Amino acid sequence: MNNFDLHNHSNCSDGQLAPRELVALAVQGRCDALALTDHDNTDGLAEAAVAAASAGLRFVNGVEISVTWRPESLHTTLHVVGLDIDPAAPAMAEGLASVRSGRHARAALMAEDLARAGITGALEGAYGHAEHRDMISRTHFARFLVEIGKARDVGSAFHHYLVQGKPGYVRHDWTRLAEAIRWIRESGGIPVLAHPGRYRLRPMQMDELLDEFQALGGEAVEVVTGSHSAEDMRRFADIARQRGLLASRGADFHGPGESEWAPGTLPLLPADLTPVWARFRAA
Ligand SMILES: [Zn+2]
Ligand SMILES: [Zn+2]
Repeated sequence: MNNFDLHNHSNCSDGQLAPRELVALAVQGRCDALALTDHDNTDGLAEAAVAAASAGLRFVNGVEISVTWRPESLHTTLHVVGLDIDPAAPAMAEGLASVRSGRHARAALMAEDLARAGITGALEGAYGHAEHRDMISRTHFARFLVEIGKARDVGSAFHHYLVQGKPGYVRHDWTRLAEAIRWIRESGGIPVLAHPGRYRLRPMQMDELLDEFQALGGEAVEVVTGSHSAEDMRRFADIARQRGLLASRGADFHGPGESEWAPGTLPLLPADLTPVWARFRAA
């Protein structure tokens, strides 16, 4: 019982599948447990929980919160996953609502910047790819760019657009690390630093981030996740050992055409690490 997949998206944020379709895929991937961790919202949890219960699959309530770390100097975007949360807890519900309200303003600025680069109609186009308007994201812009032939696929859209120094990039302030961790803890959940191998931080900065994360009550780090290379997995397994962090595992699945790893198909966690699910409340 160790095929836990604890990082996945549905069309309640920027994933392609409905929560119940994601559950079906997790069953197919022989998951022992699945977490749904949509960006900054918890709307899909109820549907996924019902579908998982009827399929006999253990389900874990999750969320992925966008954070701006060191806004004055580095201005780095981080993702913190909350696992085993209570989505109805006021701190979580109010905190996520505040993050979502920033998305529309950001989308409008992204579209203006793309228009300056000669790409018009991006705002309407991106919203056309968003199942839930409140969750408008860069991924929806990327799908629009693919649709109009400006990029071959979503991955290459993120090479040529929407990132720092490229058309469509907008500097945006998400919430602070301390706030995201507080919302997760006050909703009974466990804060997990998502896909740390993806952040462009020097080793010393990564150390400082982990110091701060742990001092604020962060407890776990993703070791095995879709965007980690084998080397990233080794590196963060070592870091988990050295720091006494719990280890998490999740595909970060967004859709069949966009994600390399389907739920439940990643390598397992190294056996000597303490898995984050050892700390979950009883199922
Ligand atoms: Zn993420
Ligand atoms: Zn994610």
